[in-house]
Amino acid sequence: MQPRESRKEVPFPDADLMYVADLLPPHEHMRYLDIRDFLQADVRKASIDYWNREEFPFGLLAEMGGHGLGALQLDGSSTLFKGLMYVELARADVSLSALAGIHNELIIGTLDLLGSPEQKRRWLPGLKTFTRLGAFALTEPEHGSDIAGGLATSARLDGGEWVLNGSKRWIGAGTIADFALVWARDEADLQIKAFIVETDRPGYAAAKINNKIGLRIMQNADITLQDVRIPAANLLPGATGFGRANELLRDSRAWVGWQAAGIQLAAFDVARAYSLGRRQFGRELAGFQLVQQQLADILGNATASLALMVQLARVQEQGKLEMVQAAMAKATTTRLARASVAMGRSLLGGNGISADYEMAKLFGDAEILYTYEGSYEINSLIVGRAVTGKSAFT
Ligand SMILES: Cc1cc2nc3c(=O)[nH]c(=O)nc-3n(C[C@H](O)[C@H](O)[C@H](O)COP(=O)(O)OP(=O)(O)OC[C@H]3O[C@@H](n4cnc5c(N)ncnc54)[C@H](O)[C@@H]3O)c2cc1C
Repeated sequence: MQPRESRKEVPFPDADLMYVADLLPPHEHMRYLDIRDFLQADVRKASIDYWNREEFPFGLLAEMGGHGLGALQLDGSSTLFKGLMYVELARADVSLSALAGIHNELIIGTLDLLGSPEQKRRWLPGLKTFTRLGAFALTEPEHGSDIAGGLATSARLDGGEWVLNGSKRWIGAGTIADFALVWARDEADLQIKAFIVETDRPGYAAAKINNKIGLRIMQNADITLQDVRIPAANLLPGATGFGRANELLRDSRAWVGWQAAGIQLAAFDVARAYSLGRRQFGRELAGFQLVQQQLADILGNATASLALMVQLARVQEQGKLEMVQAAMAKATTTRLARASVAMGRSLLGGNGISADYEMAKLFGDAEILYTYEGSYEINSLIVGRAVTGKSAFT
């Protein structure tokens, strides 16, 4: 994608052939263009180096906070605007879009929906500006897809304090967050509940997971909780069973659908620019029929994903979103994203192997979209169960 002043140089510079952004009301459209320009100018290129080094860009996060990206959940934005923000964040960098998505949907969303007034007072102001970070700690080393039934981390009320024991795996921002929202099973009633665990509590330890093939900027962690004591007031009063977590996970599945649309637009941007700049057999790659077919396929996949998500946003705003629609959107858009980045990767030839050309970064990041927030297979099984009435999970 081009900066705004030079956008006229290629046809359809924004790749928005179906004028999706025009669906926003004027004030949100202006804000969308401003933030998209910031992400393209200040985040997209800079993120490549951070991704290669698996480092977290705290400076970029502060700038993102300055643009209000930490407060999307609470600032009255429409569902479409929020979704298009996740698209443009993913188009610039998938890891930072993951951070912003988890932050808004799962951290702020959980506190806002299930937290006490005191918990909200304490945490929401800093979260909204990205000066505070939370981590969403659900998955465990031995329980991923079967977490709802298998969750093993325990919580025990002891002398007016909760005592937590267990371990969590893959937890985004686990090494840099101020607190983790830990989902644990209450030993008394066996219900799964959510607890705010400040990361400086004795017994809390987070170890960064290195050498990931995607989402390399996101600091994912293995977390251990050994007799971690927290005040009774750190229990989220609304988080009384896994059903409540499921409501949030439904919305965060939708957020991954937006990410999948964004990563495909990024793949298209890179593939188109490369095909117009690279010459073989005395001509630009862009002039070869097979290359044009790949560009058309990537953009078609991206646009189909975006269109599906726009309708999902309508369903969500009407309060009709259920797990089946979110799962179908997540599975479908990430399946298309995987195909799109594979085409983009091959279109760049050998340079598609080097993360310096961005496409390899997208290629790795797409794998994470395919797997987290419920793997492709698990989301397909959710759809399959809904349309047949038969569960095929076990
Ligand atoms: C980079 C990254 C970031 C993440 N961030 C977070 C985070 O911030 N917080 C958090 O809590 N979690 C996070 N996760 C965890 C993520 O949600 C899990 O990885 C995911 O749910 C899959 O669980 P698993 O890895 O244990 O795989 P498993 O459940 O072990 O699955 C392995 C394979 O078996 C398949 N499978 C499992 N059961 C079935 C079945 N019944 N039928 C058919 N196939 C099946 C799966 O589809 C998959 O292909 C993250 C993961 C990654 C990789």
